[in-house]
This record gives sequence, C-alpha cells and structure tokens, in this order.
Amino acid sequence: MNLEYKISSAKLIIIASLFLVLLGNFAFIKNVIAVYPINSENTLFLFSLILLFACVNIVLFSLVCFKQSIKPILITLLLISSLAAYFMDTYNVIIDDVMIDNIIKTDINEALDLLSIKQFLYFLLLGAFPSLLVYKAQITEIALKKVILSNLMLFVGALLLSAALILGFSNFYASFFREHKPLRFYANPSYYIYSSIKYANGFFKSGSEPLQKIGLDAHTPSSDEHRELIIFVVGETARADHFSLNGYHKKTNPLLEKENVLSFDNVSSCGTSTAYSLPCMFSIYGRSEFNISKGQSSENVLDVLKRAGVNVIWLDNNSSSKGVADRVHYQSYKSPDANSICDIECRDEGMLANLQTYIDSHLTGDIFIVLHQMGNHGPSYYKRYPKQFEKFTPICQTNQLEQCSQEEINNTYDNALLYTDYFLSQTIKLLKTNDSKFESALFYVSDHGESLGENNFYLHGLPYMIAPKEQTHVPMIMWFGDSFDKEEVNFSKLKRQIHQPFSHDNLFHTILGLMEVGSEVYDENLDIIEHEDGD
Ligand SMILES: [Zn+2]
Repeated sequence: MNLEYKISSAKLIIIASLFLVLLGNFAFIKNVIAVYPINSENTLFLFSLILLFACVNIVLFSLVCFKQSIKPILITLLLISSLAAYFMDTYNVIIDDVMIDNIIKTDINEALDLLSIKQFLYFLLLGAFPSLLVYKAQITEIALKKVILSNLMLFVGALLLSAALILGFSNFYASFFREHKPLRFYANPSYYIYSSIKYANGFFKSGSEPLQKIGLDAHTPSSDEHRELIIFVVGETARADHFSLNGYHKKTNPLLEKENVLSFDNVSSCGTSTAYSLPCMFSIYGRSEFNISKGQSSENVLDVLKRAGVNVIWLDNNSSSKGVADRVHYQSYKSPDANSICDIECRDEGMLANLQTYIDSHLTGDIFIVLHQMGNHGPSYYKRYPKQFEKFTPICQTNQLEQCSQEEINNTYDNALLYTDYFLSQTIKLLKTNDSKFESALFYVSDHGESLGENNFYLHGLPYMIAPKEQTHVPMIMWFGDSFDKEEVNFSKLKRQIHQPFSHDNLFHTILGLMEVGSEVYDENLDIIEHEDGD
C-alpha cells in the first residue's frame, strides 16, 4: 500500500491541529458539555471552542515546525497525545506538572500495571496510524525563508481567528476562563505541553540550588533517658472513609480494632499523588508553602533526626522514597533478593522480616524506621493482596476499572485494605516484643486517597483545588507501647483529639516531638501530641 502523498507544511500543521483537537479530546469535550450542555444557546460556542483550541495548536506548531523539525514534532505529539487521551478518557485524570513528575518517576512494574487493550487501540488509532501518515507525507520543498513566511501567516491568522472567536462569544469565554478554569486542564495536547514546560522549568531551577540544611542545632536532650523505637508507615492510596475504624460499614480493620489504636478521622493530605505528597509529608514546609523543587532543595525531618543521633532507616516496597531518604540508610524490598515474602509481587510484610535483626544490632540511640508500603496502589487492586485476604467478593480482576461494577471495585480495593490491616497489626506485634527495651510506637499515615468511580473519577492525582475529598481525606493511626512515658503522651487527652482536623503539615513536628528531638525548627503548636483540645 502506497501511503505517500504531497502536501504543504502549512496544510499539514492545520490538519494535525484539527485532528488532535477532534480525536484526542473526548474527556475535554465531555467535561465541557457537562457545564455547557448541547442546546441552541451553547452549540455555536462549543464549535468555536473546538476551533479555538485548534488555533492554539496552530500557534504552537507554527513556532516550532520548520523544514526538518515538522515530522518529528508532529509524530511525537501524536504518540504522546494518544496516550494522554487514553488516560484522560478512561480515568478522568489531568496531565499537569505533578502528573508528569509521577510519570517520570513511575517504575516499569507500575507502568505494566496500567497496560490494557484499550490503551493499545488508542495508541494505534490516534497515535501510530496518523504518525505513519505524517511520516509518509512528501512536504512541498520550499526555501526556508518561504517556510518562515508561511508559518508567520499561520501564526497571525490563528491568533486573529482566536481573537475573533473570543470577542464573538465573549460572555461564554468570560465564564469559561474565569469560573470553569479546571475545564481547560483537559485540553489535549495544549495543557500537557504547558505542564511539561512548567515541569522542566522547575526541574532546572531545583537542580542548580544547593541543599538547604535545617535544624543544625538538633539534639536529644540529656533528660531523655529511655530509647525510642518508632515505626512510621507511609500508606499508599488508602482512603480514610474505607477504614472500619472510622465507621466504614465493611470490616476493613478487623485486627487493628483489637489493638488499642487511635484513628484520626479528619486528616487531609498534602497532595493527591505519591510524588508530591511523600516529600511534603517529611518536609518542614506546610502544604501552602511546599512545592517539589523546594522539597528537593531542602533537608527534611529524617536529616534532622539523623543529625540528633537517631538511627534512621527507610525500607521501601513502593517505587522509591522520591528523594526523601537520599541521605539515610535505604533498602528496596521490591524484588525477591531482598524480600522473602513474594508471590505475584513482593508483599509489604516482607519489610518486617529483618527488622528485629536491625533493632538488635543497634545497641545505643533511638531508632526511627520508615516503611513505605505498596498498599492500595491502583488500578490493579486485585494484585495488592495475597489470595487469603480476598474476603469481599465479587472482585474486579482487571485494571480496566470502568468495566467493573462499583461493588466489584470497592470489594477489591477493600481487600487490599484488609491486607494493610494485617500488615499494620504485624508491625504492632513486632513493636510489642521490643516494648521492654524501648518506648515504642507505630505511626501510620497514607500519602493520598483514591477516587473509585465517584462522579466518574478514578485513581488520584487531580490538582488539589479541584480534587474530590476521596483523594485527599487520608487515614492516620497511632499506637503506643505500654512503656511509653505517660507524661509525654497523654493517651486519654490524645483520644479526645481524634476528630480534630489535622494534615500532613503536622507530621514534621509530631515526628520530632515523638522522638524527643530538640531543635529550633520544632514547632510545638503543630505537634499533634502536644495539641491543646481547648478544654
Ligand atoms: Zn501514592
């Protein structure tokens, strides 16, 4: 089959721009129509919107598509846009700078977890096939000067048309840009191009900054005679409202309910994705000040603990510590070489196997252990637990969540929570055996929540300003050993605080407080244990 054909570069840019807008934007069009339903009043505006975003593409392409660059650029954009369209259409996610960071930091297993036939078809029909057509195009040879002139005409023409459209429908556009800002987050490819530039900007800015040290005065006061042993578990994708400890109708915490735990039921996360929340949880910055480059260029609470002489170790059964544990002992438990408990994947419980040896080999000093769980990482919830935890059925045995019923999705997700319940109770068991030698405690917090199909949203990672509560309302649990100083931790007072609003902002200071590390960076007002309940 001979697909070769002759075309001018200007025509190719216009056709590619229209193609991308019309076929790569089901999610965008769907979300726009939800706000501006198709009726006699809105129809012309909707057409103008499609034309406007085609113009945006033409403006962008006319700036970068010249003789040799036109094919590689259009092909790259078509391939990426087809995948972006798949994820936006399927999960209602948005490709912003945080999502790009997530994608870059995703490991191969996580990527494989997302693969599906539908994704392949999107890639083939919206990406590979049109790319082949671009590849086969015989672009009319003209001098570079003429190409520049033709691009300039495209650029000016598209700008003039955009201006005319916006003026012609000024009432609609005023509401579209001001009141419905999140709608344009779905525009493909313009929004992910914008986000990539934003991400690259932040990346180069942070790479050049020297690491900012904090808490140089960190120390363990001589009055602190006993040794602390705290295990801090970073949960993954767990929702507070699916914990039976917080009143969920299914028994997802049967084992933790038997322990004397405190479950804080009003805790919000810093971000809606691992790559954002994780560094934020350990950062001195609260949510309002935090961003990824600030997190990367500053020390975190682990550095402060280490400076005070605490033995700090991070065990990871997730993708990585996202830079948080760069300066402390770190071990991955993702592969069977390190993790003794693996079936279809390595289990969180494997992180506990060598911990007693670690604890016994440290004869002096406090110990702070971080366990970073695989937890409820989606969309393949059915892979997140060993078979014996499949208590809630029927389950959703695919990563194509939209093919499953709401009940199946919830069951599968809740089974994975059951496994976390077991993992945390095993962690408490380990702490109990060390209770005679240490003041021991478990501190568990999830990094973010998850949408399970409410209003057609799936997974997580929506910009915080528009993220539904399911993605930001996280479980937080504390457990204290019998030998914990009752003056230091007033259990009954703390019990009265469990409905108080707390957030990831409190973690930095609560960890320092629990470890009894003194430093100028410690703020008692943000320490949950010291929180005054006003009575
Ligand atoms: Zn996460």
